Amino acid sequence: MIARIIAGLLLAAAIAIVARAARSLTTSGAIAATVVGTAAVAAGWSWGALLIAYFVSSSALSRVGRDAKLAHTQSVIEKTGARDAVQVLANGGVFALAALVGIVHHDTIWLAAGAGALAASAGDTWGTELGTLYGGTPRSLLTLRPVPPGTSGGVSVVGTVSSILGAGFVAALALALGWGARPSAFALAGGVTGAFADSLTGALFQARRHCDVCGIETERMTHDCGAATRHARGIAWLDNDGINLLATLGGAIVAAGLTRVVAA
Ligand SMILES: [Zn+2]
Repeated sequence: MIARIIAGLLLAAAIAIVARAARSLTTSGAIAATVVGTAAVAAGWSWGALLIAYFVSSSALSRVGRDAKLAHTQSVIEKTGARDAVQVLANGGVFALAALVGIVHHDTIWLAAGAGALAASAGDTWGTELGTLYGGTPRSLLTLRPVPPGTSGGVSVVGTVSSILGAGFVAALALALGWGARPSAFALAGGVTGAFADSLTGALFQARRHCDVCGIETERMTHDCGAATRHARGIAWLDNDGINLLATLGGAIVAAGLTRVVAA
């Protein structure tokens, strides 16, 4: 296992350096990704393979139509482009924790929890990226009124279908990697639930700010017009990273819970 951890560390660091050079990760994001990747490979090569497939697909989808998406969303979204350490841990921290606990405590519940967390993150990422690009004007999950693309809690048909496909992608890979039909199916259920919870909690509780100069709502502290924004509604400290962390935790808990509750 020591040899595998060293190999995992080298592989994770190599991928993180490439992703840093490609501007998919910031420097802090590359360090965090190396930690998450090493934890995954320590649990087994299949954990590492699942993480790499998730990361490559998410980074590729972030790149598709980047300019068009930026033009749509940059006055709304706080962080665009390269992922920093907080974003990496918000998306991969629960997965890495499940991997580490699974090393000590051998049980398929940790496979379900890890895949469920990653499926929730993939669902959110695929839904956001493809929904922003092809989904037209999203509607608020709460009021069903049209909201600007990129708004947390905004949903579209394309985004919702993409979200289910993203969770399904991780679950199908887990199945192909031999994690078993039950953990994979429960990961799909956890992933879809987590991604939906992401939109719902985003709509209900995420901090929203207001630019008084432009008269629009945004998640940014400084609007792209240059003016400082003020807190308008939602929980002031709960940003998109906090919502993502809650969504991956939800995905893990649903997948693990189903493993315990649903009879074989
Ligand atoms: Zn403004």
